[in-house]
Amino acid sequence: MEAKVKEFMAKIIAKNPSEVEFHQAVQEVAESLIPYIEENPKYRDAKILDRITEPERVIMFRIPWLDDKGNVQVNRGFRIEMNSAIGPYKGGLRFHPTVNLGVLKFLAFEQVFKNSLTTLPMGGGKGGSDFDPKGKSDNEVMKFCQSFMTELCRHIGPNTDVPAGDIGVGGREIGFLFGQYKRIRNEFTGVLTGKALNWGGSLIRPEATGYGAVYFAEEMLKTRNDSYKGKTVTVSGSGNVAQYAVEKVTELGGKCVTLSDSAGFIHDPAGIDAEKLAYVMELKNVKRGRIKEYAEKYGCEYHEGQRPWGIKCDIALPCATQNEINGEEAQVLVNNGCFVVSEGANMPSTPEAVEVFLKARILYGPGKAANAGGVATSGLEMSQNSLRLSWTREEVDQRLNNIMKSIHETCVKYGKEEDGYINYVNGANIGGFVKVADSMIDQGLV
Ligand code: NDP
Repeated sequence: MEAKVKEFMAKIIAKNPSEVEFHQAVQEVAESLIPYIEENPKYRDAKILDRITEPERVIMFRIPWLDDKGNVQVNRGFRIEMNSAIGPYKGGLRFHPTVNLGVLKFLAFEQVFKNSLTTLPMGGGKGGSDFDPKGKSDNEVMKFCQSFMTELCRHIGPNTDVPAGDIGVGGREIGFLFGQYKRIRNEFTGVLTGKALNWGGSLIRPEATGYGAVYFAEEMLKTRNDSYKGKTVTVSGSGNVAQYAVEKVTELGGKCVTLSDSAGFIHDPAGIDAEKLAYVMELKNVKRGRIKEYAEKYGCEYHEGQRPWGIKCDIALPCATQNEINGEEAQVLVNNGCFVVSEGANMPSTPEAVEVFLKARILYGPGKAANAGGVATSGLEMSQNSLRLSWTREEVDQRLNNIMKSIHETCVKYGKEEDGYINYVNGANIGGFVKVADSMIDQGLV
């Protein structure tokens, strides 16, 4: 089997040179799927693995804009339309200087499986730009978003491709993007999710990814008759996903002791309670400051240039970015007694880290299952837009919770090993694959 994976990966690498994150994401999925495909030859005969790793369409474009000093700036924009077998392309937009084709193809590829796991009719896509919103004025962000949407608007639509937020794209950016789409197309329609409540957004969408990752870990804990009560939790990141993960853990009786940003992490052994979290939200979402300021305000430790995985914990919630836990850090987590990892971020664990978690037989929930609550709630926002109705907070939260439970069940169904250990990596990859692959076969060679 190993030889088959190697042979397949050699083709992927030759076809997509230098897209290292894409290679990493495909390799992990191929390791789960190739043995399954060997047992189910209809997928092999239809060459599903070769087809599913090739985007249906890649759009790459120039984004010129004027900064506040009147200087011309040029960024690069992308939209990867990966797979539409089970619904319109759906997936976030990322604005970050590290964005390139390989990063977005990895994210779009993962999105296909994730969206399938949610049980909702959504295909997979992803997009964004190498634009860095840090240090830019609101006016500059608006001008950039308008230029970005001027090109993107011809490729998307409520029945074609529905983008959302991701790193660097929150409520402010979605507002500017929506406004420009409406202006050019003369349509008020559900073309983006993550909208504000007044103009078509859904309650619980901002909370959904963080809450969902916490609900997923709760389901994993239940398999060992355990809960959040009294648990110490390390969280990375301090953006949208991290903030609401902290809120839900605290509500369920756990204690979050860390947060980070790209410059370092804070360690607050007393716990990040509701009042401190409100400060973080103001700091990050309004003042757009650095997490270091938390340590100055609350008199706790700040570790410059480091990540929080050396801090002793029961549960780790990586909520910042890809490859933020390496093999050594994973080993430190396990040695310190961490027995649950639920990924709020996409692919935060390197392959070496995943190997450590699986070898130690801990409860390891990979991103495509654990963070699917965000896109699931985006799917609920699309339904509400189509119905021209809005559901209550409780109703959306309940649907989110049920979807996370159903994703967990799918992972158990496809990932339970002979000794009872649940391999959530195999569970999510195979569980997400089957529906998309069967739909591709039904629809013929497209
Ligand atoms: P935000 O932009 O709100 O926050 C991102 C956080 O991660 C910030 O604290 C940021 O710090 C930190 N970060 C970003 N890049 C790096 C880096 N290269 N090294 C270290 N820290 C970094 O994004 P979100 O919270 O929305 O997204 C976080 C993760 O969750 C991403 O992996 C995203 O793909 C994933 N995700 C998000 C969903 C959503 O609904 N928003 C849905 C599913 C997954 P700094 O400010 O210093 O850059």
